[in-house]
Amino acid sequence: MAASLIDGREIARLVREEVRREVKELVAREGVVPGLATVLVGEDPASAVYVAGKHRACEEAGIASIHHPLGADTPHEELAELLHSLNADPAVSGILLQLPVPPHLDGSALTALIDPGKDVDGLTPISAGRLAQGVPGLRPCTPSGVIELLRRHEVLLGGAEAVVLGRSDLVGKPVAALLLAENATVTVCHSRTRDLPSVCRRADVLIAAVGIPRFVQGAWVKPGATVIDVGINRLAEGLVGDVDFDAARERAGLITPVPGGVGPMTIAMLLGNTVSAARAQALARAPS
Ligand code: NAD
Repeated sequence: MAASLIDGREIARLVREEVRREVKELVAREGVVPGLATVLVGEDPASAVYVAGKHRACEEAGIASIHHPLGADTPHEELAELLHSLNADPAVSGILLQLPVPPHLDGSALTALIDPGKDVDGLTPISAGRLAQGVPGLRPCTPSGVIELLRRHEVLLGGAEAVVLGRSDLVGKPVAALLLAENATVTVCHSRTRDLPSVCRRADVLIAAVGIPRFVQGAWVKPGATVIDVGINRLAEGLVGDVDFDAARERAGLITPVPGGVGPMTIAMLLGNTVSAARAQALARAPS
């Protein structure tokens, strides 16, 4: 029997609705309007589209957003200065430095300058350390979107075998850490992993984040497994994921489509992080 679909658009819509309610409450109770500052260096068209989407989503949720477009040749010092001033600005709850930055800049070094309390992308070393140690902090958006999809479908994670394909700092590692925090038994695979098909066939929950179109074959999927496809590959025929969807769907119990699976969750979780950051900052400012 074909797997049921996980509808990321619908779940993202629900999350965004919840965020809108939380924003209203925060405004009414604390007089605080959450604010997201975005920083975009250069004119990469795909990045410009992503940032514009984030601003639209903020507006819908009642979050103020402030965009800082900078020229492609902006020096490190100028960006560092901007990030420091955003760290200090009480109207800014969250800061998002759109990656990748142009080659003369070091994206990791710049990200590390963001105040961890405003790190709504969850990518600073402090946020990564907090996640690794299982202490509260802002979590990376796409990985927490993956967990939210699993949670809303009540997929059992405690004791489950979870296999993550990919070990990037952006997706693979944080997804693995979040699954571990949910008490799954987690295996992380990468380009040097031996006999990938047999490792994948152990998975009750299989997460693909490799960036290779239709990489995961149907025969690698354990019957009844939950398959989450994080991949976004732009081909002439349109967007495709890292999973051979038609074949995997025949064996899986639950599966995300591409597009319409993990993709819409990233912005929804970014909005959630911005509200959480604003709430924590309001609490820290409140007289004791
Ligand atoms: P990346 O290139 O940084 O990492 C890819 C990972 O895949 C690496 O760890 C590598 O070891 C592993 N890998 C490569 N070839 C492999 C192989 N043959 N076997 C096993 N593992 C292999 O990519 P990323 O940033 O982690 O992104 C992964 C995918 O997720 C991409 O398609 C990207 O577009 C997509 N993505 C989607 C969202 C979203 O919002 N849905 C967000 C971020 C990334």
